[in-house]
Amino acid sequence: MKVIDHINTSKETLFSFEILPPLKGKSIQSIYDGIDPLMEFKPKFINVTYHREEYVYKEREKGLLEKVSIRKRPGTVGICAAIMNKYHVDAVPHLICGGFSKEETENALIDLQFLGIDNLLALRGDPIKTEVSFTPHPKGHRYAVELIEQIDAMNKGEYTLDDIKLEPTNFCIGTAGYPEKHFEAMNMQTDLFYLKQKVDAGADYIVTQMFFDNKKYFEFVEACRSVGITVPIIPGLKPIKNLKHISFLPKFFNIDLPDDLSNELLKCKTDMDVRNLGVEWGIQQSKELKQAGVPCIHYYTMSNSKEVKEIASAIF
Ligand code: FAD
Repeated sequence: MKVIDHINTSKETLFSFEILPPLKGKSIQSIYDGIDPLMEFKPKFINVTYHREEYVYKEREKGLLEKVSIRKRPGTVGICAAIMNKYHVDAVPHLICGGFSKEETENALIDLQFLGIDNLLALRGDPIKTEVSFTPHPKGHRYAVELIEQIDAMNKGEYTLDDIKLEPTNFCIGTAGYPEKHFEAMNMQTDLFYLKQKVDAGADYIVTQMFFDNKKYFEFVEACRSVGITVPIIPGLKPIKNLKHISFLPKFFNIDLPDDLSNELLKCKTDMDVRNLGVEWGIQQSKELKQAGVPCIHYYTMSNSKEVKEIASAIF
């Protein structure tokens, strides 16, 4: 079933979560171990992130280094199929522009369709570690809107390399939104302009970047509505978990921690102090969002379900 149909047919706030494929070499059991504790909250869909290749230097001969490309977390599509097969829950693979030609994207979409996967989250992807800025594949897409256009065209039977109409696909398309602005956007106004382009191109709903201040989410929804974006906007939450997160999350995700939270974090001495505060903060955020009637709360588990379970136990 499509995410948008889950949302439209539900009278209450839904629960969903996102996982990362395990590091290469780990078995699918590590995925199940993360999902099993969360199944009691009846997630309507589970997102699986996509991770691009990165370049590392390996010593081939003494003193001679070779630059090699590796993907540390492959397996997104396989994990989605395994989740749907084992739990009978809809899986939402993340599909990115980076590293894909249009034809490779088309073939990936055909694979998804054959596997019975109706949903995907269409993203541009971040620059790879060795890139200063995002470089599109020479035959691929520069922005997520172009990927959404390609998927929307396939939903109408228009494939990239064929002149004739083919059997249409039937994908529900999610897209990313940034309550605190995407880090490359000139300002919020231009970011919203491009977000609207993505929705006009066929995105059925928006999932937000994580935020720790609900006010930012509510303002973002209002701003979206004011520019004519009418699709559901799903808030994304992540429990802050350890002392490292205090500087890592703002830096990596380009977000701010609100004063109330940072004041409490400053008092934390151990990872456990931060973790407990993070769970408490996540519960308060979730309660307020649920009370406000958001369509779904989406939790970033980063493949660690313990904290999300504690939050969900207090909410769902
Ligand atoms: P876009 O919508 O293309 O926007 C990128 C930037 O370009 C923005 O600043 C926007 O304002 C601007 N822009 C957009 N369209 C245009 C245009 N036509 N002309 C000029 N400027 C434009 N990354 C991964 O690699 N794998 C994942 O699994 C993954 N999952 C994510 C899940 C969520 C919910 C979110 C919020 C992010 C995720 N990301 C993931 C990160 C994401 O790929 C990065 O944030 C990336 O930098 C932007 O992706 P986007 O789809 O928002 O890009």
